[in-house]
Amino acid sequence: MGKGRSKIVMLGAPGSGKGTRAKIISERLSIPVISTGEILREEIHKGTDLGKQVKSDLDSGKLVSDETINGILKKRLSMPDCENGFILDGVPRTLTQAKYLESMGIDIDYAVSVEIEDEKIVDRLAGRRVCPNCGRGYHTDMFADSSDELCEDCGCKLAKRKDDEEETVRERLRVYYELTEPLKDYYEQSNKLIKVSGDDKLSEIAKNVLRAMGLD
Ligand SMILES: [Zn+2]
Repeated sequence: MGKGRSKIVMLGAPGSGKGTRAKIISERLSIPVISTGEILREEIHKGTDLGKQVKSDLDSGKLVSDETINGILKKRLSMPDCENGFILDGVPRTLTQAKYLESMGIDIDYAVSVEIEDEKIVDRLAGRRVCPNCGRGYHTDMFADSSDELCEDCGCKLAKRKDDEEETVRERLRVYYELTEPLKDYYEQSNKLIKVSGDDKLSEIAKNVLRAMGLD
């Protein structure tokens, strides 16, 4: 694989499953997934000032500021494991962020967009449950009745994450279409856009993407 031809951006609405797909592609290409969400969650967990600010933004369905994201990115992308490429998940979310990447000398080679209908996303997220004790994830599809929604490991009553409430999901989708969707046009204009279906089997994803990149 040609060096320097594997700087990839993942695009897709919240709940489209782009994180899972990013991981699969990353394994095939042996490049890291840089998830700003993961880095931010770590900050929240540690209770840093940055973490507190980010938490209050996220709880109200807002996006984290460009300034914050850019600072995190600059630091992360200069680490040695990014030398042969990387997959960005969760950033850029706006044209401003995309242009900032270029101004840092980071030319994106491909943008992989995971396409899925809104109603499927709302369904998928509205049914998500998590065990407040051990963190194990579930979907209501597997329970006949809401009184059955107990963790198989510890018997705790399962809870819904605030992020997955329908109203929050709809607000995040609205923000996504307003700010992030224009990035698809942006990358399409330079022939960098690769569209994949959110309904594709996970085993097909890497194959389809590599074929589009001319690597398979
Ligand atoms: Zn549990």
